[in-house]
Amino acid sequence: MRPADWLQLFGTALERGDIAAAADLFEPGGYWRDLVAFTWNIKTCEGRGEVKAMLAATLAAVRPRNFVPKSDEWFSFETAAGRGVGHLRLRGRHCRTLLTTLQELKGFEETRDPGNGRPSEATQPYVVIVGGGQGGMALAARLKRLGVPALVVEKHARAGDSWRKRYASLCLHDPVWYDHMPYLPFPDHWPVFSPKDRMGDWLEMYAKVMELDYWTSTPCVSASFDREKELWEVKVMRNGEPVTLRPRHLVLATGMSGFPSIPRIPGADGFEGRIVHSSAHDGGAAWKDKQCVVVGSSTSAHDICEDLHRQGAAQVTMIQRAPTIVVRSGTLMDLAWGPLYSEQAVARGITTATADLTVASIPFRLLPEFQIPVYAAIRDRDADLYAGLDKAGFLYDFGADGSGIHSLYLRRGAGYYIETGASQMIIEGRIKLRSRVSVERLNRKSATLSDGTELPADLVVCATGYGSMNQWAAELISQEVADRVGKVWGLGSDTKQDPGPWVGELRNMWKPTQQPNLWFHGGNLMQSRHYSLYLALQLKARMEGIPARAYHVEPVHHLS
Ligand SMILES: Cc1cc2nc3c(=O)[nH]c(=O)nc-3n(C[C@H](O)[C@H](O)[C@H](O)COP(=O)(O)OP(=O)(O)OC[C@H]3O[C@@H](n4cnc5c(N)ncnc54)[C@H](O)[C@@H]3O)c2cc1C
Repeated sequence: MRPADWLQLFGTALERGDIAAAADLFEPGGYWRDLVAFTWNIKTCEGRGEVKAMLAATLAAVRPRNFVPKSDEWFSFETAAGRGVGHLRLRGRHCRTLLTTLQELKGFEETRDPGNGRPSEATQPYVVIVGGGQGGMALAARLKRLGVPALVVEKHARAGDSWRKRYASLCLHDPVWYDHMPYLPFPDHWPVFSPKDRMGDWLEMYAKVMELDYWTSTPCVSASFDREKELWEVKVMRNGEPVTLRPRHLVLATGMSGFPSIPRIPGADGFEGRIVHSSAHDGGAAWKDKQCVVVGSSTSAHDICEDLHRQGAAQVTMIQRAPTIVVRSGTLMDLAWGPLYSEQAVARGITTATADLTVASIPFRLLPEFQIPVYAAIRDRDADLYAGLDKAGFLYDFGADGSGIHSLYLRRGAGYYIETGASQMIIEGRIKLRSRVSVERLNRKSATLSDGTELPADLVVCATGYGSMNQWAAELISQEVADRVGKVWGLGSDTKQDPGPWVGELRNMWKPTQQPNLWFHGGNLMQSRHYSLYLALQLKARMEGIPARAYHVEPVHHLS
């Protein structure tokens, strides 16, 4: 069937309220991913049964219509509340995957300021965003354009410090085409992999020119929700002075790489060297001629080992406990990102928005099917790298099912390294490696490993990753609220650190949670850019009193 014909049948079935007919247009196991347009939620329905249940709950209020094909795969549509864009994959007569996304609310479209752009009078913010990294900024920029009063509170002294304060050698691992902020893309000459301070400066500029209401040196110290008034009481310290804010909605944009997981290593108290989490390690210059042990084998561990070695450390040893996905940066660009995010993609007319929506069109359940062949090709192409890693004793894999970095990122947000030099150093023995072991104990001047060997150590860096974002809710609000909300991130893939059951969307991100009026925002630059739109539309709809009842707020299966 031609997509346009399918769309016509689908649109007509929906308009006459024929849920069974609409569901029958899907394959029995077909997918419908909806970003806010039908569900006021971020939800993937898997199979006809789930499609029917969703439509039964939403169709009468959503009143979809006007499905218009734009190309073989893309279409536009309307709902009672707004206008949307969708994507369709057919197999024969049936839909294999459908994506529907809300793009704007009727009557509240983003427009150019008709006046002189003078800021309007300050009001109590409708939304307080805790955390002014790229996530908080992207959301604040969208809310600004939608006329939703939003205040970002950031504990650091300058916007962009969340990048500046990371280890000195850090460059973005994703290419520039993937990293644009909403509304204001990087200029054409921008390097493919931005150094972190340049990124920090860009964000500082962004906060300014987007006229974000952004308070620096303002840590949020606590927040509590008054269920009756439906208001938060948010306590912040602005330049050392206490201020209480009373927004209706609270967004935690405190970073999924913000709450360090620090292992308890017996003997750490008596260790005479320095022990530090990777997030607090600022660079290798001070460690010239010193003995350095880096615990962990993902991105930060690799970057820090490389930097310590380049800065002249006497010996740098990586301690690897479990396999890590390693892929060469250039290969990832060519085979994974290139088709959507690259100079060539831009030349083919693929805009950032099209690329983002194309990524969004693949239901997470199907992602491995799309990714496994890519990783098979990567393994072939870089056979020399993997042979070298084998020889060095480095444990690598391509994820539990061979579906690589993108899947792993969604499942646990960690566990990989995009090779820009450190793997080669491991292969050549310039970075020492101890794999299949962990640090069992620290002594005064050394570390004892689980196989009994002892390594001299002046510095131990724990590049051991970060905890679930609901730990921020525990810290700022209460353990009760953190537990009500449950684990943040992960799909329920039943792989390491992502226990089942399958939930099909990232837990708690950018969508309603079990705690009324509490939201989580963040992710990498691409996700912050893309999903900030849907979170902003959900908040705007609430502010304007547009009925926006979420369909199926996910029950909580795991506390952290
Ligand atoms: C080593 C490393 C490399 C990375 N490389 C990339 C990459 O190449 N590309 C990419 O897209 N992503 C990368 N990431 C992921 C990166 O963390 C995120 O992209 C990005 O930092 C997330 O932005 P964010 O705004 O969600 O969180 P953050 O940048 O962590 O910002 C959170 C902000 O919240 C503030 N905050 C926290 N608590 C409070 C409080 N109580 N009160 C006020 N403010 C508070 C913090 O100061 C911080 O500024 C990397 C992460 C790490 C650790």
